[in-house]
Amino acid sequence: MSIEQFSQLGLSENILKSIRDANYQKPSPIQQRAIPAILQGRDIFGCAQTGTGKTAAFALPIMQKLETSGNFPRPLQFRALILTPTRELAEQIGANISMYGKHLNLSYCKAYGGVSLKPQIRALSIGVDILVATPGRLLDLFNQKKLSFDGVEYLVLDEADRMLDMGFLPDIRKICSQLPNKRQSLLFSATMSEEIEKLARSIVINPLKISIDPDKPTVEKIDQKVAMLESLDKYNFLTELLLPHADEKDFLALVFCRTKHGASKLAKRLSKSGISADAIHGDKSQSARQRALGKFKDHNIRVLVATDIAARGIDVKNMNMVVNYDLPDEVETYVHRIGRTARAEASGEAVSLCTRDNIQDFSAIEKFIKLDIPLYTNTQYHSENVFELIKKNRAFRAKMAKKNPQQQPRKIKDKEFSAEILYGERRPSVYMEKPKFNAGSPSKKGKKFDNKQRSKSPQKSFAKPQKQNSFGKQNKPAFQQKTKTQKPMRPQKQKRIRKNFVSN
Ligand code: AMP
Repeated sequence: MSIEQFSQLGLSENILKSIRDANYQKPSPIQQRAIPAILQGRDIFGCAQTGTGKTAAFALPIMQKLETSGNFPRPLQFRALILTPTRELAEQIGANISMYGKHLNLSYCKAYGGVSLKPQIRALSIGVDILVATPGRLLDLFNQKKLSFDGVEYLVLDEADRMLDMGFLPDIRKICSQLPNKRQSLLFSATMSEEIEKLARSIVINPLKISIDPDKPTVEKIDQKVAMLESLDKYNFLTELLLPHADEKDFLALVFCRTKHGASKLAKRLSKSGISADAIHGDKSQSARQRALGKFKDHNIRVLVATDIAARGIDVKNMNMVVNYDLPDEVETYVHRIGRTARAEASGEAVSLCTRDNIQDFSAIEKFIKLDIPLYTNTQYHSENVFELIKKNRAFRAKMAKKNPQQQPRKIKDKEFSAEILYGERRPSVYMEKPKFNAGSPSKKGKKFDNKQRSKSPQKSFAKPQKQNSFGKQNKPAFQQKTKTQKPMRPQKQKRIRKNFVSN
């Protein structure tokens, strides 16, 4: 049965007020399923992409439970940990949390790299209700003894697939080994794989599995086009595409590049050609990245040139166009990229540049999304030779599909509505006030707790503030007991790998 209203989900009046402020009319499919289950204390294993409303799906019920429990965080502790792969995503989740928490008395803090540690240390020193963090910075703070995992009641692992791609698995394992066994865990991933399932088995217990149509990428309502070009014409084509919009204040285009250097160079070239642009990538300082993103969101530049990692989690309202200047290495990334547009009920446009160097990459994308992407014809740079090669691949795929009808390519229905993508007004974020309370000193010894199997409902009573929640760590699974005695340091090698990804 479809739930038409947020008020049917068991959310409190204060949360409902924030939802009304955010102008959300109806809970999305993932919200309809996840919110009641999380309120009941169940673990969740969700397969959903950005754009499905999953942030609200996990944040709203957790915030309600934190608010109504009557507990407060102790110094150095936090009660809900939201782990995200990138800084931008952490920023975005933080902005959502402050929007949803407008009428609640909760505190939150973001902890990610590339910015000063001091404000994060200061916030943690008194304790926060919600900590949104990237794994690297979280472990840095932990190693410096600036935080304790002992008070965690809720764990959210967001974009788990991306975390694995970025080499965060050892960090995640280390973090999980430090968490109290008695907690509620929610794991979300945009894609499913054996690795993700394996990770989920070690994190969530008897979870409610929610899958928001994982096999059908949310690409239907995006007007996708491909330009067949010779390599040397790529830049000319891009200016031909973007120049007509150079003076349109409402026009925003996100252009994806493969490398950081390429992104910077392209942004400079575009600016010289009269198309205002800036770049966002891992070689830029966090403040420069935020400045560029801010200029873009405020419509002070027309084009943001980005690498994949930096663009992850960017949620800009009314983005008109995504351009794949360089095609992505992985087919799933194509779906993530074009999903940046066509939000907020706007019809989005995604234009990919295909040259003879990446025929195979492009064909892999078409195979993955089961779609022959229509040709961008309105250009003087069209290369029939490149198109011929693509046509051959398509003919081969069609032949194979005849043998297996499920592989039939789908035809694009013009601006078809896709129920999986949600739209919403993004409101300016409002920072919550820290609740006033007398926090006790951090206690290392938790109460004894029989946790042969973790309780599914960590908050059984509405405890008074002085009855602090502090869970023991007995009877941990074997791998956790082992790591407890280890110094929580990342091996240098892993550190290097992760750094490479983060700085992409
Ligand atoms: P997410 O998938 O969490 O990144 O959310 C994508 C966008 O949808 C964000 O801008 C949210 O503010 C918005 N959103 C989330 N839930 C709803 C809803 N029920 N109705 C309308 N917009 C929503």
